[in-house]
Amino acid sequence: MAALALLICGAGSAAAAGTGGALTPGATPTKAGSPTGAPSTAPVSGSVTIATATTTPRKSYYYGFRYPRLSFTIASDQPRNDLQINVLDEAGLVLRSFYRNDVAPNVATAIRWDGTTAEGKPARNGHYSFSVVPQGAAVAARLATPSTAATLAFDFYGFAFPILGAHEFGMSAGRFGAGRSGHTHQGQDVMAACGLPLVAARGGTVQYSGYEGNAGNYIVIDGKGSSYDFMYAHLAEPSPLLTGESVRTGQPIGVVGDTGDAQGCHLHFEMWAAPGWYEGGSPLDPLLYLQKWDRYS
Ligand SMILES: [Zn+2]
Repeated sequence: MAALALLICGAGSAAAAGTGGALTPGATPTKAGSPTGAPSTAPVSGSVTIATATTTPRKSYYYGFRYPRLSFTIASDQPRNDLQINVLDEAGLVLRSFYRNDVAPNVATAIRWDGTTAEGKPARNGHYSFSVVPQGAAVAARLATPSTAATLAFDFYGFAFPILGAHEFGMSAGRFGAGRSGHTHQGQDVMAACGLPLVAARGGTVQYSGYEGNAGNYIVIDGKGSSYDFMYAHLAEPSPLLTGESVRTGQPIGVVGDTGDAQGCHLHFEMWAAPGWYEGGSPLDPLLYLQKWDRYS
């Protein structure tokens, strides 16, 4: 039973804590997304092709440090060209459109997508690409870009896996809902070496950062654009982030430890449904989410 004991931690009964603190920018903020722009009132469509196109980074996260950015130039026999730049999902459906009018040939144009749909919601995990079409043309009439097509594509994810390094999901006693004296285990334990960096699975606002006897050093993040709160416990040291600060997806929030009621180094991870952690919400089983994030992040 020694192996089982290693999986046990007592976190999950952390006392309710205040959520005070003013919003202060804690992270290096990513630049804002590009303005959408408006279509030209008299679009002209002529012979336009993409001359160069580069998308960076090729993998990014919602509310992360960097947004997907397309930089391109066109070749055209016209001095001014009205263009529509689209973000396409894997099925080729247009998720967002940007309009740039009077674009000259061989002049770099850049579009930065903030990862939200036209309704302002975070886009789903997946493989995306930019497309550039003359305004008024059918979306299917994507400009021919045989040599640069690959640089229009990118991956976008809503969540990052919270441990940067080798890890193993705790089973039985480390699972959500496992018995504890007086309560049940409200999170999922992920075994990992003490000192491995932890990052925010979803950025947002630090709802609470502090210490509690069971949880040890812990931090709770109110996930931006999500109905979830995320709680990380047993950090080796207090998180560098303070209550009220903003945090980006993938931003370091501390390191794995065994503070509080923990036997062995591990991350105790909780996800709370709206209205959130000790705000009237309830914890849910995060294992399937963690396993999904683990596959790409
Ligand atoms: Zn635990």
